[in-house]
Parts: sequence; C-alpha cells; structure tokens
Amino acid sequence: KAKREGKNNIQFYSADLAEEMSGFYRMEQRLKLALERDEFVLHFQPQIDMASGRVSAVEALVRWNCPENGMVPPLQFIPVAEEAGLIGAIGEQVFRKACAQWRAWSDQGFLLKMAVNVSPLQFRDDAFIGQLARLLGEMRMPPSYLEIEITEGVLMGSAEKALGKLKALRDMGISIAIDDFGTGYSSLQYLKELPISCLKIDASFVREIQTNGKNLAIVKTIEALGRNLQMYTVAEGIEEQAQYDLLKDIGCTMGQGYFISHPMAAEKLEPLLRKLMT
Ligand code: C2E
Ligand code: MG
Ligand code: MG
Ligand code: MG
Repeated sequence: KAKREGKNNIQFYSADLAEEMSGFYRMEQRLKLALERDEFVLHFQPQIDMASGRVSAVEALVRWNCPENGMVPPLQFIPVAEEAGLIGAIGEQVFRKACAQWRAWSDQGFLLKMAVNVSPLQFRDDAFIGQLARLLGEMRMPPSYLEIEITEGVLMGSAEKALGKLKALRDMGISIAIDDFGTGYSSLQYLKELPISCLKIDASFVREIQTNGKNLAIVKTIEALGRNLQMYTVAEGIEEQAQYDLLKDIGCTMGQGYFISHPMAAEKLEPLLRKLMT
C-alpha cells in the first residue's frame, strides 16, 4: 500500500511540476510582452508624518495592468520576473515612471519624497547606479527626493559589495530605507556600517499591536533602535485609528497604511495629497 501511495505521490508531484514549469514559461513570455506593451503601472501610497499628519512622501508600488487578468499585484509576478531575469528591465521602467511622476507632481507644487522598491537582483546589477544617476538628471530630480527601499536580502551574499553601492548612493544624496525591517536576516552589524536613513517596521508587527504584547514590544524596540541610530521609522500597514494613535505615542516618525490611504493611481491620489499637504 505504501508503495502505491508513493507511486501516486510521484505522479502527483511530477504532473504538478510540469504544469508549474509551463506556467512559468508562459508567464515569462507574457511578462516580456508586458514590457514591450508598457503594461506596468504604478500606484502610490502616502507616508505621513505622525506628529503633524502631513504627507511627506509616497511609495511607488508596481502593478501589471494585464488586459486578460486585470491588475496583477506585484507578489504574483515579481518573483517570476526575478527568476526569468526580467526584473532589471521592469525595475528600470518602475524608476522611470516614479521619477516622471515626481517631476509632474513637483511642477504642480506637490513636493514629496518618492520611495521606490528595489529587488536584490536589480540592486546587484552593476549598471544600476549609473542608470539611476542618468535618470535623475534626465528628470531634473534632486537625488535627495529619492528614497530606495531595500530588503535585508540585498545584504546577503556579497555584503562588502552591497556596502560599497549603498555608500555610493548615499554620496549621490539618495536615501536608503530598510523595508520589512525585522523579518529578514537581521544583523545589528549592518545597521552600524550601512548608510541607512530609515527603518520600515513590517506590517506583521503593526497588525495586532493593540492586543499582542510581543508585537508592541518589538515595535517599541525598533523605534528606539532607529531613534538612537539617528534613523527615522515608518510604521507599515496601519489599518485603524487605534493603531495609528498607539504608533504615534510610541514615537514612530511616519505612518503608512490603508487607514491613511490605499495605494492609488496618481490622479486619484491628488485630492488627498492636496488635503494632506496643507
Ligand atoms: P512593500 O514594499 O512592503 O509594500 C507594502 C505592501 O503592503 C503593498 O502591497 C501595499 O499595498 C500593502 N499595504 C499598504 N498598506 C496596507 C495596509 O494597511 N494593510 C495591508 N494588509 N496591506 C497594506 P503590494 O503593492 O501588493 O506590494 C507587495 C510587495 O511587492 C511590496 O511590499 C514590495 O516588496 C513588492 N513591490 C511592490 N512594488 C515593487 C517594485 O516596483 N519593485 C520591486 N522590486 N518590488 C515591488
Ligand atoms: Mg516597500
Ligand atoms: Mg514593507
Ligand atoms: Mg514586503
């Protein structure tokens, strides 16, 4: 009986894998087409200053506006794009669109910092910094208005090389945030050495902060860590007033989440920006 089950299992897994592989291949082809057809769009989510309630930054979040499947969220295609070697090209479009939007908003009098997510593979590409420098020049965007969000994954592997690149970005005037802080391969060593300006407290710690004592303790500790290292903190995933109030009491510098605003297309966000900027 065991043998039969084992055999069934093998068949089950191999059938699944075959399906997965052709799915991957299809997705890869489709993503290449999406690049050609310019189907990637950005939504923007405000980050507000907790003390004043004013918006000071927006985070750009990519979506794939797929004619067949609608708006596809990043977690459904970024991993495939990474594995298929397409993340560099997609990431370049993301930066181009984010910086172009920054230019447009600045021209309209919305002066905001623009935060852009960078995948570890994209960051590892030696052309990355040069591309960014050219783009900023082209868009007439002062580097101090750009923040890149990296995850701890960027530091895995060649931490030495990552350190050199981060310092180069910092020397250009670009700021660096650690996204999803506390969920990766955290080491306090890198906080000491890297030119980081912001810690983004992961939503998983914010989620039950009113009822989960451990989450509360972790958030307080990250806030203190940031403050003592002269970094600011952004609490991610704020969904309710009570969370907002508590995070403000704790002293988090900035907040981001559905309670403040969902990520939205630029034009849709403008009325809220207008309201939150004055
Ligand atoms: P992230 O950078 O940590 O972004 C925060 C995610 O949480 C976003 O999901 C956002 O829509 C969502 N979020 C914001 N507020 C709330 C809230 O109050 N409650 C809940 N439940 N969720 C909230 P999204 O847009 O699906 O992005 C998921 C992840 O995909 C991002 O996590 C980031 O790691 C990655 N990503 C997004 N855009 C890009 C990009 O342009 N390039 C790369 N490499 N990765 C990206
Ligand atoms: Mg992010
Ligand atoms: Mg995050
Ligand atoms: Mg994330």
